[in-house]
Amino acid sequence: MTTPDRPVDLRSDTVTRPTRGMLAAMLAAEVGDDVFGEDPTVRALEERTAALFGKEAGLFVPSGTMANQIAVRVHCRPQDEILLEATSHVYLWEAGGPAALSGVTCRPITAERGQLRLEHLSEAIRPDDYHYVRTRLLCLENTHNRGGGTIYPVAELARLAEWARQHGLAVHVDGARIWNAMVATGVPAPRWGQYCDTLAVCFSKGLGAPVGSLLVGRREQIAEARRYRKLFGGGMRQAGYLAAACLYALEHHVERLAEDHAHAQQLAEAIAVVPGLCLTPPQVQTNLIWFEARPPWSSAQAVAEQLRQRGVLVAVLGPRLLRAVTHLDVSAADCRYAAEIFRQLRPA
Ligand SMILES: *Cc1c(COP(=O)(O)O)cnc(C)c1O
Repeated sequence: MTTPDRPVDLRSDTVTRPTRGMLAAMLAAEVGDDVFGEDPTVRALEERTAALFGKEAGLFVPSGTMANQIAVRVHCRPQDEILLEATSHVYLWEAGGPAALSGVTCRPITAERGQLRLEHLSEAIRPDDYHYVRTRLLCLENTHNRGGGTIYPVAELARLAEWARQHGLAVHVDGARIWNAMVATGVPAPRWGQYCDTLAVCFSKGLGAPVGSLLVGRREQIAEARRYRKLFGGGMRQAGYLAAACLYALEHHVERLAEDHAHAQQLAEAIAVVPGLCLTPPQVQTNLIWFEARPPWSSAQAVAEQLRQRGVLVAVLGPRLLRAVTHLDVSAADCRYAAEIFRQLRPA
């Protein structure tokens, strides 16, 4: 087993750097001032991504967080409430955005693997009474990060969307990793766009672009979203250089996510046999592997430190919680190496 010349970085799929091909595409981009609506590459990316998911329009934004928070603002008014899963990115990892930016309350609901089901929701809508907030938006995450990279089955999305429609709620999907759901299931993009009003997608995760997310939806919603992007400070000028990287990623880095999923399976098998380490959830569906360090391990940090000394980086996300993520910059050889290092781990 040869040691890689740099650490195998499994902390996140955001650590990728642009490939040569991507850099060449960026260099060749035609650009203009996108705040004036004059960047042809940004426009092309917005139109192409919207069409891919069967939506009318799209808006390019700097981050997935901004795409989600703009969507909250589009769908909700102050005193409204969002239904979402308790470990969802919008609730947990966006710095209180709904309250701070939109005056909106979150109703976090605990669900296994982050998957909200109708039985969780039927009691969740507030009565029409001036004491209460107005329940306005259902926010789902697909794949669900903290849920273990778990995929919402399309049939379940259809049921949830129908329920939301009957109750006058809008549906937003945080699809930072929708690409992984598409590739893992073979279900094509329009089906994932069909059961939501707005969908946020990231190009800077598994697709390997340096920066960039997009919000897609109906034309009038995206026109509103453009106002909020300005308000939140997300209007960018010659952003076509970034959009060119995203277009390149759409072309070249979607199908290959299957490799990341296969690598994640290999790592999960290695982690599963280490004494004291436990996969949570036990089944890995995409590129995210969450696991716990149980006694006799003293902490998650102790595991991460042993790995780091041997050239493998993982994320510590709780006192006993860790995450390993496969991505574009983890080669088959890197994966074999990391799996072997995992197998050799022993509590100190
Ligand atoms: C990473 C991520 C986002 C957005 O992250 P940014 O760093 O703001 O681009 C949104 N949702 C999920 C589920 C994510 O994992």
